[in-house]
Amino acid sequence: MNNSAQQIRQQFLDFFKSKGHQIVPSAPIVVKNDPTLMFTNAGMNQFKELFLGEATIKYPRVADTQRCLRVSGKHNDLEEVGIDTYHHTMFEMLGNWSFGDYFKKEAITWSWELLTEVYKLPKDRLYVTVFEGDDSEGLPKDQEAYDFWKAFVDEDRILLGNKKDNFWEMGETGPCGPCSEIHFDSRSDEERARVNGAALVNADDPLVIEIWNNVFMQFNRLKDGSLKTLPAQHVDTGMGFERLVRVIQQKTSNYDTDVFQPMIQFIAENAGIKYGEAEKTDIAMRVMADHIRAIAFAIADGQLPSNNKAGYVIRRILRRAVRYAYQTLGFKAPFLNQLVPILAQQFNGVFDELYAQKDFVQKVVLEEENSFLRTLENGISRFEKMEEISGEKAFELYDTFGFPIDLTELMAREKGLMVDMQGFEAELQKQKARSRAATAIDTQDWVIVNEGDETEFVGYDELESQAQILKYRKV
Ligand code: ATP
Ligand code: MG
Ligand code: MG
Ligand code: MG
Repeated sequence: MNNSAQQIRQQFLDFFKSKGHQIVPSAPIVVKNDPTLMFTNAGMNQFKELFLGEATIKYPRVADTQRCLRVSGKHNDLEEVGIDTYHHTMFEMLGNWSFGDYFKKEAITWSWELLTEVYKLPKDRLYVTVFEGDDSEGLPKDQEAYDFWKAFVDEDRILLGNKKDNFWEMGETGPCGPCSEIHFDSRSDEERARVNGAALVNADDPLVIEIWNNVFMQFNRLKDGSLKTLPAQHVDTGMGFERLVRVIQQKTSNYDTDVFQPMIQFIAENAGIKYGEAEKTDIAMRVMADHIRAIAFAIADGQLPSNNKAGYVIRRILRRAVRYAYQTLGFKAPFLNQLVPILAQQFNGVFDELYAQKDFVQKVVLEEENSFLRTLENGISRFEKMEEISGEKAFELYDTFGFPIDLTELMAREKGLMVDMQGFEAELQKQKARSRAATAIDTQDWVIVNEGDETEFVGYDELESQAQILKYRKV
């Protein structure tokens, strides 16, 4: 295929290689040595020490594709996945970095060159955002970025953004700086004519999607809240690979690209239902095709599904996918595991970890499916009889039928019901009297554990799975 996902990825890496970047491997998706982060959620995670000045810079310019997971903490996109067509649980983040080397000018020039000259995206469908400044915090407008963009982009397609969208901070203290995002407009020509081509960001229209974020680490936020200019300034960029493929392949959904279609078609054939036939079954197929990626890579990177912490996050995602498969698509026998070989084949030569362990990963998924399918049927019929979901009932579904609370919430939403979350939490508390402090706090990209007065959720001793649930409710 011309412009296949494989080629698009390779072109990215080749492009930055030609600009003097060292191509490095993806870090694992499972983070083992950082108490503040469970899963890699951005390309820059593995370079944290470099930005903090705690590690020696080996290569001042680096690029890669990083497998990321956004299902917990500050970045939790789980509820969007499958419902919208551009947030995934697991996705690849393409990135290029400068560690005290080039800065805004090169980053902006190269991102424009790559998108418009290598990928040949239509220029008039690209919008960029620039930090507008914030007087109350003494943060200046990013005039430099604005001026560099102006060389390429008409001013009516350069939008100013506020601190929430266009200023990045590593945590309460540490490196921070303005960022500049690139959005792509997939609206039809007619629609664009109707609105006079007015620029929008993706918050305003699902057909306008953010594809790339360029962060310029310019300041250091000190404990007293003041900002100091960093002695060495850095660039950190992240581009959603599946979104990039979508816009290059001229689709309006990531799932219509060759990243997802092999799995979607396999699911559709086996279910005997066409993809595109009905929204409900489409969502179920998208969820399955998405979730298996998160599950498979987590297992390949050493995180087995379990009843606590990161393992329970994976089990929750898996059970969510199995419920869609079972109830919406009619797969009464384990099926999800059959997607593993397709995925492994697809990532062979990209992330070899999965291919090397594909039989093992498939077996783990199969066992998980078998174990949940044992109680799912009865749990669903129990659920169907409920007219309201009290704390006790949600707890029964959790405790007796293995329904993670977010699954119960999802099923309740589908039925127009609410779950009494407070009641559920109270039930958990009742079951466990003794509590202990959770070691991981996962509300920001990074937080300094045990520093400051930030108190977070306190977990439960033996039933860590339940602690995990409560933690997820809070962030
Ligand atoms: P969005 O606003 O769409 O949620 P973001 O601003 O949270 O994206 P960043 O943290 O800036 O995303 O990450 C860099 C890039 O990674 C984004 O520009 C986007 O292309 C991609 N990306 C972010 N989250 C996801 C996701 N859940 N699935 C797929 N791609 C994603
Ligand atoms: Mg987001
Ligand atoms: Mg965004
Ligand atoms: Mg962003």
